[in-house]
Amino acid sequence: MQTADGYVASLRARQLRLFVDGELCASPVDHPKVRPAVNAVAATYALAHDPKHRALATRESDLVGRPVNRFTALFRAPEDLVRKLELQRVLGRLTGTCFQRCVGLDGINALYVATHERPVARERFVAWLRGVQERDEMLNGAMTDAKGDRSQRPPGQPDHYVRVVERRADGVVIRGAIHQTGAANAHQILVMPGQALREGEEDFAIACAMPVDAPGVTMVLGRQPSDDRRGGPDAGNARFGGQECVVLFDDVFVPHERVFLDGDLEACSTLVSTFAGYHRASYGGCKPGNLDVLIGAADLVTRTNGVRKASHVRDKLVQMAHLTETIHGLGVGASAKGTLHPSGVWVVDPILANVCKHHVTQLPYEIVRLAEDLAGGAMSTLPSIADLDHPELGPALRTVAGSEERAKALRLVESMAYGAGSVPFRIECMHGAGSPQAQRVVLEREIDWESKVKRARVLAGIDADDELA
Ligand SMILES: Cc1cc2nc3c(=O)[nH]c(=O)nc-3n(C[C@H](O)[C@H](O)[C@H](O)COP(=O)(O)OP(=O)(O)OC[C@H]3O[C@@H](n4cnc5c(N)ncnc54)[C@H](O)[C@@H]3O)c2cc1C
Repeated sequence: MQTADGYVASLRARQLRLFVDGELCASPVDHPKVRPAVNAVAATYALAHDPKHRALATRESDLVGRPVNRFTALFRAPEDLVRKLELQRVLGRLTGTCFQRCVGLDGINALYVATHERPVARERFVAWLRGVQERDEMLNGAMTDAKGDRSQRPPGQPDHYVRVVERRADGVVIRGAIHQTGAANAHQILVMPGQALREGEEDFAIACAMPVDAPGVTMVLGRQPSDDRRGGPDAGNARFGGQECVVLFDDVFVPHERVFLDGDLEACSTLVSTFAGYHRASYGGCKPGNLDVLIGAADLVTRTNGVRKASHVRDKLVQMAHLTETIHGLGVGASAKGTLHPSGVWVVDPILANVCKHHVTQLPYEIVRLAEDLAGGAMSTLPSIADLDHPELGPALRTVAGSEERAKALRLVESMAYGAGSVPFRIECMHGAGSPQAQRVVLEREIDWESKVKRARVLAGIDADDELA
């Protein structure tokens, strides 16, 4: 299994075409806007070698016959789904941000389910996955198309979707653009459709993989808040960060051995819904871990402000923890109530997974509100921490800023609430794995409304009771 240092070294071997602020980036790993996100992914490798976390961070693979990093493993046993959530919570707490490997993990498991009863696709996929496990690769998932006018279907505006533009004897050529987490820190891109597709939309029903530096792949780093603070004294999160890229696919050739689904509408529909279930439950792991950090930062500020013992402060911290554990409980519940798919991997309970993610689109906003309440206005009015060391200004500023510890705690709250850390935390809570309405649509579809009405009719005395003698 790869080590954290080995992972970073392996990134240097890529010929990545990454633009940052309009310039081609010569060494992505060393760029101050990229490095914090590389560090967050590296944590997923470090845990696999840490005696305290190794059991959680690794799993025996029946594909390669040895332990692999859990982020490349299939959910073969009922406890695997819960262990994933536990690992995500640990990593969310250790890094305070998005560690970027969950889309790939959920994607490989969803593809395993979707290629069930597709022998050619299954053989290709498993051969590819063996390589991923052996090399312990970081995968990022490409699903969210530009979409343009949301009221139109893909064929009405093909340029807004990733699609097959040519089928050759040895593979396919794809074109389009996708929003992706951690793209510049990955080894391979897993392309999957972003929605269920209909007859006549087969060109958009593509699931395939390619190296991040395949000819025709260009990445552009997202422009985000407090970008110029990354890694600096005012970063808030001193070591770790998230990363979003737009990835452009300009006629990228994908050989058949890495094309898993092409035009198979039924399998792609299974892929989309299975992935959504896994990924919506995942938010019950990573985000509670991030929230642990936010609660800790808010608590730290109240201690340095001398208000920690006030009853309303204690109550607000308890409320923050209560909401955090609500999300985590739903993620664990969706995982613990998983069922065995005939393919041999476990899938989550779709209702609880969607309720979990739906809460994630709401509760962290309330938790951030409470953190902002407890932090006070200095969170946003404080001068740079560098100014605190200024020979002339320092002494006067320190009476305002308090200790450096207080200033840094405030910066961490600021970062997570609306700074660089808010993108892979707050905004990801809202839109990652689909915006809120996507979960409500699944809930309306999955909930057994008739059984509820049936029981109400019995208990109201309208119908006879045929369930309880
Ligand atoms: C931090 C972050 C990380 C991400 N990482 C990844 C990643 O790694 N890989 C990836 O593939 N994607 C990623 N995404 C993209 C994410 O999956 C999408 O943002 C999400 O699915 C919502 O899609 P959208 O942004 O196009 O918004 P939209 O779908 O446009 O939603 C915006 C609003 O419009 C409404 N709406 C949309 N369509 C319709 C319609 N037809 N009719 C009526 N209302 C509609 C929605 O309900 C919502 O209220 C990431 C996003 C974020 C913010």
